[in-house]
Amino acid sequence: MKFLSTFTAGLLAAGHAAAAPSKAADACLKGKKVPASYPGDAAYDELAEPFNLRLQYKPAAIVLPETNTHVQDAVICASQSGLKVQAKSGGHSYASFSTGGKNGSLIIDLQPLQNIELDKTTNIVKVGGGVRLGNLAQGVWDQGERAISHGTCPGVGIGGHFTHGGYGHTSRNWGIALDHIVGLDVVTADGKLLHATATENKELFWALRGAAESFGIVTNFYLRTQAAPEVITYFQLQWGDTLFKNKKAFTDTFLHIQTFSQNASVVDNRISYGIYLDGNATYNLGGTFFGTSAEFNSTILPELRRGTAPPTHITVQEYAWIPYLILMSDKTDIKEPLTGYDDHDTFFAKSITVPEADGGLTATTLNNFWDYISKPAPYSYFVIINLYGGPGSAINTKDTKFAAYNDRDSLWVFQNYGTNPTSLDYINGINDVIIKSQPQTHFGAYLNYVDPSYSAKEAHELYYGEELYSKLATLKKKYDPKQVFWMPQAIGVN
Ligand SMILES: Cc1cc2nc3c(=O)[nH]c(=O)nc-3n(C[C@H](O)[C@H](O)[C@H](O)COP(=O)(O)OP(=O)(O)OC[C@H]3O[C@@H](n4cnc5c(N)ncnc54)[C@H](O)[C@@H]3O)c2cc1C
Repeated sequence: MKFLSTFTAGLLAAGHAAAAPSKAADACLKGKKVPASYPGDAAYDELAEPFNLRLQYKPAAIVLPETNTHVQDAVICASQSGLKVQAKSGGHSYASFSTGGKNGSLIIDLQPLQNIELDKTTNIVKVGGGVRLGNLAQGVWDQGERAISHGTCPGVGIGGHFTHGGYGHTSRNWGIALDHIVGLDVVTADGKLLHATATENKELFWALRGAAESFGIVTNFYLRTQAAPEVITYFQLQWGDTLFKNKKAFTDTFLHIQTFSQNASVVDNRISYGIYLDGNATYNLGGTFFGTSAEFNSTILPELRRGTAPPTHITVQEYAWIPYLILMSDKTDIKEPLTGYDDHDTFFAKSITVPEADGGLTATTLNNFWDYISKPAPYSYFVIINLYGGPGSAINTKDTKFAAYNDRDSLWVFQNYGTNPTSLDYINGINDVIIKSQPQTHFGAYLNYVDPSYSAKEAHELYYGEELYSKLATLKKKYDPKQVFWMPQAIGVN
């Protein structure tokens, strides 16, 4: 193990107590001196743990690359030995696809790749494939008071989040995380290291932004950044349990918020919000305004409140950028450890995208939704309904020519999250009640809330749609004909 750096040696235990399931891959990796952990190593069990402990898989080997060459060698070893490959960045896949989505894959855990380098001339930041969102946000702030749009959980990794969308309360203003990508360093199935941009390896660049797990291992991201705002306003309206006791108030309040969300005289790209509800004690509308609390209170809040049931509590508060990110993270700090990250949950979640063109949710759907959630649930759960569309939304100004990402026309995106391993039926029931209430609406699903209960065919239809998927399937045959990069819903899986 002499070839291991201090970083990797700290992650791996000395010695390989148990034989690796794939002797050929094991020998190949050792021959090429690729740092890796194998079943039986003291570090292996912790490295193999995904964020979602409901779905745990046993990889044949977990590579911890310190260089692009390590990634290239690992992909070649896996391909020659017939092993399937997945990258692991933050490990927060809802379906644990970054541990393969089955036993016996080769996992390339990018946690040693932690570089964050802001070019102060171009304001483009080069970021290693293992960086977590909190460290990314803190890094671009520290190096130049810059900011990037992404989700709120600081432990989520750049690799999965940026290549499958990436929504936060800055997305209606700056675009989703994926929209910030201007270049990628990627190792493809033949072991080549390519640089992909809108003009160089452009087909690959297109496919990686929406389906990276099926096309390569991204070792570096090049991202545009924005100047962080000096002040940002956080707001929250709370209704407690009042709306769960009154169907008419529940439906009318949501319908008013929906109409408000499409009213261009009050809503523009500077505002974003989502509704959090748990069917029991909490119904909150919380969000962000790129402006002062005085402007929010005088022009936006009165119009928002005009048609809702009376809130039990209202908060409107200005924040500086990093304190705002800490508030959104629900933690005391956005910095995350570079090794040994050990936060987990045990859950089942799924999503629904509600197309804006079909007019949003109807009163019938909301009434049926209330009927379902107002009865006692067998397990605790929550639903978050985020505004993606509405006037001026930067999310919806792009289309599928820009990237292999199809969710550009949603008004709302639902996340339905059951915090019990056996909550599948209840959570599936939430999806069913909404979808069945509006048979005329073409609902989809959000890639970053990947749902393992779908067949590959269902996933391809819901995440990409027929036209986009067929283009991706053609590119998959070109770039990865042996399906080296595989998980159960990968491009090319039937
Ligand atoms: C607690 C929590 C909070 C969340 N909050 C938000 C939120 O606010 N907004 C939002 O939009 N989403 C959110 N998500 C969903 C999150 O965006 C996705 O789960 C995301 O894919 C996780 O990224 P990751 O790198 O941690 O995942 P991983 O599990 O490491 O990877 C996910 C998939 O991407 C592939 N992949 C990862 N890195 C690479 C790479 N470098 N090259 C090629 N393929 C790669 C993996 O192989 C795997 O298939 C949240 C998830 C959790 C668990």
